[in-house]
Amino acid sequence: KTFEELNLSESLLRGLYSEMKFEKPSRIQAETLPMILTPPHVNLIAQAHNGSGKTTCFVLGMLGRVDAQLQAPQALCVCPTRELAIQNEEVLLKMGKYTGITSVCAIPSDSGGGYLSTRRDPIVDQVVIGTPGTLKRWMTKDKLLSTKHIKILVFDEADHMLAQDGFQDDSMRILRDIQKNRGSCQILLFSATYDEKVKQFALRNIPKANYVFV
Ligand code: AMP
Repeated sequence: KTFEELNLSESLLRGLYSEMKFEKPSRIQAETLPMILTPPHVNLIAQAHNGSGKTTCFVLGMLGRVDAQLQAPQALCVCPTRELAIQNEEVLLKMGKYTGITSVCAIPSDSGGGYLSTRRDPIVDQVVIGTPGTLKRWMTKDKLLSTKHIKILVFDEADHMLAQDGFQDDSMRILRDIQKNRGSCQILLFSATYDEKVKQFALRNIPKANYVFV
């Protein structure tokens, strides 16, 4: 398979080739990207470890599905740590360099995010990447993050996330708020291990999912 066969825009292909220097999709990318990008945009549970190329799956998924002309958050990525959120945003910015799509990191402001102290307007970036607690607060108490247009929700390293106190409750709240507003938000869950915690979370919250084990 080639990236051309995945129906990606010219600007995304340019990002993949000239910024990322990727030549062709890895196995997990070839397997999941058609499911992510093509209607009916099924929910997906993927067991994938670091190094498999999973980041590209959901970053391309988010970049491929949002509308750069719409100034509203449309993709959300939930990460277990601030560092991972920052790292994922870096990949997104690089890969999406030619798309005009913008993003924001939802991490506590004491860790250098600084968003809340400098700006209190609602978010207009198409992609929001962050940790569960901050994402939840922006959606609820702070009313910075509208879920109205969210059409793709990603959980990265779900096993690490669910192992942390409070993250499961925050994640479920995020999910429920999004599902309340939009019946048809696509959910992607990536996890290195499919342990009991991840399994229960997925069964309870992610209806009709396709499974990919790499
Ligand atoms: P990940 O599993 O997403 O953390 O990716 C592992 C590493 O593989 C990263 O350094 C990526 O830049 C690289 N990578 C991901 N997809 C590809 C690809 N299609 N071709 C070459 N390298 C890739």
